[in-house]
Amino acid sequence: EAAAGSKRTSRVRVAVRLRPYMDKQDEKGEGPCVRGLGPQNLEIINWRNATETLHYQFDAFHGEQTSQQEVFVSSVKPILPHILNGQNASVFAYGPTGAGKTHTMLGSQEQPGIIPRAVKEVFNLVAAQEEEQDSWQYSVGMSYLEIYNEKVLDLLSSGSQDLPIREDKDRNILIPGLTDTPLSSFSDFDRHFIPASLKRTTASTKLNQRSSRSHAVLLVKVLKSQRRPPHRQQTGKLYLVDLAGSEDNRRTGNQGIRLKESGAINLSLFTLSKVVDALNAGAGGRVPYRDSKLTRLLQDSLGGSAHSVMITNIAPEYSYYFDTFTALNFAAKSKQI
Ligand code: ADP
Ligand code: MG
Repeated sequence: EAAAGSKRTSRVRVAVRLRPYMDKQDEKGEGPCVRGLGPQNLEIINWRNATETLHYQFDAFHGEQTSQQEVFVSSVKPILPHILNGQNASVFAYGPTGAGKTHTMLGSQEQPGIIPRAVKEVFNLVAAQEEEQDSWQYSVGMSYLEIYNEKVLDLLSSGSQDLPIREDKDRNILIPGLTDTPLSSFSDFDRHFIPASLKRTTASTKLNQRSSRSHAVLLVKVLKSQRRPPHRQQTGKLYLVDLAGSEDNRRTGNQGIRLKESGAINLSLFTLSKVVDALNAGAGGRVPYRDSKLTRLLQDSLGGSAHSVMITNIAPEYSYYFDTFTALNFAAKSKQI
C-alpha cells in the first residue's frame, strides 16, 4: 500500500496490438505496411523512402495472430488482484477508428474481449477470497458512462444530462448522480451491460458514428468491508475505456458541428496523451489532469498508486498509414526509455 502523501507515480504500461490485414480495407491492394518483429517490436514502412522501415519498441507488441485471451492475460489479468486490495486501475484502448479498439475491449460473442474477461475474473477473485478468509466481505458494482463533447453522460439511465465530476477530501473522484448498479454475478453484469452497450453502438450509426467520437467508460468497483470492528472499508476501482478514434479529423474534412465535436475529442485525447507523457517522463512535473473531463475523471486511477495500461490498436493497411504513424509515435513516446 502506498504511504499517505507518497509522491510515487506509477508509469503507464504501453502495449501495441496490430489487427489482421483486411483486403476490403485496402483499395489499392498494396498489402500491409506494418509488420511485427517480436514480442516488443514492430516495423513500419518509411513513407519518405519505401525501401526503408522505421523500428519501434514497446512494453509489449501483440501481432495479428494474438488471441483475445493472450491480450487479456498479458495486459490486464495481472492488475486485477490490486482492485480487491483497494487500489485503482485503468485500461485504455487507443488508436484510429477501424483499428480494433472495440474488438479489444468488448469483442464479440465468439471472441470476448477484455471487458467480459476482466469482469469474470473479478468475480473469480472475489469468490476465491471469500473461500480463503472470512474477515472481509466484498461487493461489486458497475457504472457505465460516455464522454461526448466534454459532457459526461450516464449510459445506464435514459435521458442523462451532463454530470458533474467532484473530488472528496481524500482525493477520490466521484460523480454524484451516476448510476451505480450492484452486481452479484457475471450474468448480472451481462444483463445490465449488453443492452447499454448495444444502445450506444446502434444509436451511433444514426448520429454520424458518434461512438467513434466519444469515450465509453466502464467502471467496475469492488468494495471491501471488514466483517468485525473497526469495520474498515476500502474501494478499488477499475476503469475500462474504449477511447474515441485518434484519427486526425481535420484531414477527413469534418465541418461545422462535427468540427466542434472533433475539437472536444481532441481535447480529451490530447490531454490524455499529455497526462501519460507527464507520468512516464517521471520527473514529478505537473500532470494536467484538470484540463479535460476524461483525465479529470481518471485522476485517481491513472498515475499515483494506480495500475494503468494503454493498448494502442493499429491497422496494417496503407489507408491507415498516417494515423498509424501518429499513434505509434505517441505510444513510443509514452513507453519507458
Ligand atoms: P475500432 O473500435 O477501433 O473502430 P473495431 O474494433 O470496430 O475498431 O474493428 C474494426 C473491424 O476489425 C471489426 O470488424 C473487428 O471485428 C475487426 N477486428 C479488429 N481487431 C481484430 C482482431 N484482432 N482480429 C480479428 N478481427 C479484428
Ligand atoms: Mg469502436
